[in-house]
Amino acid sequence: MQPRFFHRSLLTLFLVVLCAPALSYEIEPLDDGLYRFVDDRHRSVFLITEDGALVTDPMNTKAATWLKNQIKQRFNVPVKYVVYSHNHSDHIYGAEVFNHPDTVFIAHQLAAQDIHNTSANTVAPDITFENDMLLTLGTNTVRLTYHGPNDGRGSISMLFEQQQLLFVVDWIVIGRMPWQKLWSYDIQGMINSTQEILKYDFTTFVGGHADIGSKQDVARYLSYLKQLYSQVTQGALAGKSVTEIQASVDLSEFDDFANYEAWLPLNVEGVYERLMEESGMGWRPDVSQPK
Ligand SMILES: [Zn+2]
Repeated sequence: MQPRFFHRSLLTLFLVVLCAPALSYEIEPLDDGLYRFVDDRHRSVFLITEDGALVTDPMNTKAATWLKNQIKQRFNVPVKYVVYSHNHSDHIYGAEVFNHPDTVFIAHQLAAQDIHNTSANTVAPDITFENDMLLTLGTNTVRLTYHGPNDGRGSISMLFEQQQLLFVVDWIVIGRMPWQKLWSYDIQGMINSTQEILKYDFTTFVGGHADIGSKQDVARYLSYLKQLYSQVTQGALAGKSVTEIQASVDLSEFDDFANYEAWLPLNVEGVYERLMEESGMGWRPDVSQPK
């Protein structure tokens, strides 16, 4: 082998290794047949029972393929149910990997409607529901509940009763700030929905992003949302501009949340925009508009 060729081969190999996308899938055991599936920033849960598996958000084709193989290799049970948390593609694409005559796909009716309307490239749900639905698998019960608008369309909570574990995607985040300008969020709806799920009997919370938490962590997240909403509303009522509100809000008790510095101004801007548009404060005659 020519030395120069040898070096070039080594360099090529080095670059290939360097440029190969790092797959960072993980499976973490939770409790009593429940597992968390992690795909980089996204998370879902799945349940393994003697009667089969229940999979929640499949994320995307690559992640779902990896997950399906892992379930086959580690547990060797058929996937009985695939449950979508809501309508957004970054959580529910890749479901075709689990498509099988014996697998039932479930979503809230508003998520299903949106999947159909936008021709989303995933498996159309076989079963939809309006308010809530109780699923049983093995000795497990999973309660799916719609709490009204909060994020996207038809976003539900999933309560794994035996494990006292609640899974919610996007509208509750533990250990991190809500996403940037709160795109697609209904802020009042998030507050209402979070208040409702706090009445549930659960000890562990798993979100579609960020950390696993306790019921207390969820309550603290709700406190952040409420204070953010109320401080921005007060600022808007006082005729302050979004820049003035960004400078005056005080939410420093939450400065341990990841991305606090970078995303607090964006969170403020997101709430301000909802107040101006959805609440119609932008054209209310009794609210003085910023100069
Ligand atoms: Zn998300």
